[in-house]
Amino acid sequence: MRRTFQLAFLALNLWIGAQFVLFVHYYESGGHGVRVARPPGVEGWLPIASLMNLKILLLTGHIPHVHPAGMFLLIAFLAISWLLRKSFCACLCPVGTVLEWLWRPGRQTFRRNWGLTRWLDTGLRSLKYILLGLFLYAVGSMSVPAIQAFLEGPYGLVSDVKMLDFFRFMGFAGAVVMALLVVLSVFVQNFRCRYLCPYGALMGPAALASPLRIRRDATLCIDCAKCAKACPATLPVDRLVSIRSAECTGCLECVAVCPAEGALRMSAPGRRAVPAWMMAAAAAALFLGICGCAWWAGNWHTGLPDRVYVDLIPHAREFTHP
Ligand code: SF4
Ligand code: SF4
Repeated sequence: MRRTFQLAFLALNLWIGAQFVLFVHYYESGGHGVRVARPPGVEGWLPIASLMNLKILLLTGHIPHVHPAGMFLLIAFLAISWLLRKSFCACLCPVGTVLEWLWRPGRQTFRRNWGLTRWLDTGLRSLKYILLGLFLYAVGSMSVPAIQAFLEGPYGLVSDVKMLDFFRFMGFAGAVVMALLVVLSVFVQNFRCRYLCPYGALMGPAALASPLRIRRDATLCIDCAKCAKACPATLPVDRLVSIRSAECTGCLECVAVCPAEGALRMSAPGRRAVPAWMMAAAAAALFLGICGCAWWAGNWHTGLPDRVYVDLIPHAREFTHP
């Protein structure tokens, strides 16, 4: 079920990406080519703009009109992480899906993934929180008018095109970093997610407040340690009674491999086990419900007139970060 979600979400992202490339090409070519509408879902790739918009919403009560879809996606992912652990990372994040396709074959080929020493692992894990802290500091230190001026300035309006340009016109340094991440991801399980992803770090505190947790019944457990071996977050599931860690993504891989019926379950305190299908249905309901409500209320699309794109997109590469 998790794989189905991952594939569906990856396909959705590829479709959005293809649509966005056509959209940008239409304006870059001066109106030649296929004209397609701008897919609002592309704003899911603008996490900093989404954080800025969330601050505007929280402080003013007004829904921003530039890149609002990114903000609603962020709210949906935070709600999913809060209720269902970090299921966003395990089931929806397309980057996580692609990286999983690197470390799993890596493990099959070399018969293992390499783990870092405990002190190196702990030190590196703090990197994603440091990155998140920098972004939160940057957004937190900007006033609402400053954020609005940024998002409604030329750079902010085409920040989605700038993000696309990062991949289309990648510089040498960017290519080296990407290549390094790919190679490291083959050898070290979830390298980028575990050490460098500030978006995953943002989901962590929400997941810590989740009522759901993996719980182990020591009276039924036969101490086979299969759960710990299967855990992509390398958590010592076989030695704990309940998993509180912010690294747990609610992937249920540990439950799937456990041979002792009832020994391991995802549940709220004193409640029955939550089956995988219910986790998946709840994640889908939250995602479709929050995004669907934003769309239905007319707050999903960035409502910019066509002439803004005509003026800005052909010159997007000239805009530098203010
Ligand atoms: S395998 Fe179990 S403990 Fe590990 S991340 Fe997945 S749900 Fe959490
Ligand atoms: S897989 Fe199940 S039986 Fe084996 S150690 Fe983990 S909880 Fe215990």
